Amino acid sequence: MPTLRDVRLFAKHHLVRRVYAGPERDGDLGVVSLGYTPDAYAEALRESAREFDFDLEVAAELPFRDARHPVFDVRSRNAGASARLLVLAGVHGNEQAGILAVPEILEAFAHERPADVALRVLTPVNPIGAAELSRFNGQGYDINRDFVHFETPEGRLVRRVVTAFRPTFVIALHEGPQDATFMFTNPEVAPALAHRVLDVVAAKGTTLATKDYFGRTLSPPGLAPPTRTTRMLVALWARVLGMKTTNAYASDLGVPEITLESSWKGADRSARLRAHRDLVLAVAHELANAR
Ligand SMILES: [Zn+2]
Repeated sequence: MPTLRDVRLFAKHHLVRRVYAGPERDGDLGVVSLGYTPDAYAEALRESAREFDFDLEVAAELPFRDARHPVFDVRSRNAGASARLLVLAGVHGNEQAGILAVPEILEAFAHERPADVALRVLTPVNPIGAAELSRFNGQGYDINRDFVHFETPEGRLVRRVVTAFRPTFVIALHEGPQDATFMFTNPEVAPALAHRVLDVVAAKGTTLATKDYFGRTLSPPGLAPPTRTTRMLVALWARVLGMKTTNAYASDLGVPEITLESSWKGADRSARLRAHRDLVLAVAHELANAR
């Protein structure tokens, strides 16, 4: 049975777009920090982009207190490729694995060179939340509820990049309270592709979850596909509450999106990062093989 605290937490994360007045830290969610700090991250990212021949720009600088927090826009130098993969890292600032995995993603992409696939990464999409170890942005919004009204600068930035880049596939890198890794797919993701990329990720050492964080059984492990119920809920959620995730936003545009969720409870840094890196590469190879 869910407790009152569970219900409150659920309501806070699913029923309101602006949850706090600022980038608050929720109480004890069991998030194990991987030690993200903005300066060290910026340095590691710049170094990786330089070494592996990616263009890196600051797409936005978001002011908070006395600092300006950059969102980095990293691009492979083949924007005209017929497949274009957009990765959104750190939409929720306290979900660090997807953010910290980006330098490794660049390295692996450079080494494996999936043919005719362009990669573009926005990271961290929520730099103030990342700096403050918060899920929320500088004004207390959950950015991943903002893809109806675009009230946040971060949501508008994602929209601008999507419009300019015209991705053929989107991956959003998240973490959650469940025990292992799983992914949500929107209706545009072919089930066969989802199964294949999960096989690759599992073969490379990631443990796939048998239940998602709502307690639903996942079959095959690791996959939370759209169902009639989730489609109905997504539509209702948008219509009644004016909320939409990047997953549903991509779906509106006819673009497949995978939302990856590793476990934020894991203390093993490389295991947490690996899921993100391996999924992005597996999808990139799928896009390369599709032609
Ligand atoms: Zn998240």
